[in-house]
Amino acid sequence: MQLESLQIDVVEDGRFGLDGGAMFGIIPRPLWSRSDPPDEANRIEMALRCLLIRDGQRCILIDNGMGEQWNDRQRGQFALDRTRVPCLLDNLERLGVDRRDITDMVFTHFHFDHNGGTVMPDGSLAFPGAMHHGSKVNYDLALSPSAKDAGSFRPEDRAGLVIGENLTLHEGPWRLTPQLDFIVSDGHTLGMHLPRIVSGGETMVFCADLVPTSSHLHLPWVMGYDCMPVRTIEEKTDLLAQAYDHNWILLFEHDPEIDGCRVVKDERGRYRRGEVIDLGGIGRSWG
Ligand SMILES: [Zn+2]
Repeated sequence: MQLESLQIDVVEDGRFGLDGGAMFGIIPRPLWSRSDPPDEANRIEMALRCLLIRDGQRCILIDNGMGEQWNDRQRGQFALDRTRVPCLLDNLERLGVDRRDITDMVFTHFHFDHNGGTVMPDGSLAFPGAMHHGSKVNYDLALSPSAKDAGSFRPEDRAGLVIGENLTLHEGPWRLTPQLDFIVSDGHTLGMHLPRIVSGGETMVFCADLVPTSSHLHLPWVMGYDCMPVRTIEEKTDLLAQAYDHNWILLFEHDPEIDGCRVVKDERGRYRRGEVIDLGGIGRSWG
């Protein structure tokens, strides 16, 4: 079946920083600091890369960054910065998209750097016309997190979402349109959903926090944040093998430099960055 090309745009929500040690787990700083140089507080720069997918009928947003529900102390702690890269709503506006026209707001999972833009500072929903979609397993975890990940789930980012009204929860792999389905990954947090997009003869997987940056293509480079790091490695092994075999494009939510890439192997059989893919970013599109 020949599928139409979708219009796919990257819409970032500024930049932020997390501790480099936490981002690379057991990997020593002298190794990761070469590819990801830390600042004076040991934080590495990270993107808040969201995807806007338009098919002529639906206007689908995948994740919505960190949003504005942060005080000055928290903004400093996370180095939240919208000076070099504007915030999500400004970027949507640049694309000529009114936030009220988003039909589907899909969350990969409910951590604050993925659903922080759901609620406006005045308490109203940022995307009032949208059905919000998320993982039932991850939503349940957000309601009763472990002590390890309690800091990643914030109730204020879900305020105003009502199951069955403006929030639909999905279990297991699911499909939103003929060209967009979701793969389940549990290693980072239970029930994370990775969008897989088929358009223009290409298959793309938005890797969310399974492979947050291209540095994490190295199989043992796994985040200390992950609840089940061994599961993450198994799931990465599986995804990277499929991406390699089928020449899929992997898109990285947090990579500070590139939107995505294809996957190659080096002389020792390790996965590495192949052709770098630029989706066009703000105001430009690809499809
Ligand atoms: Zn994240």
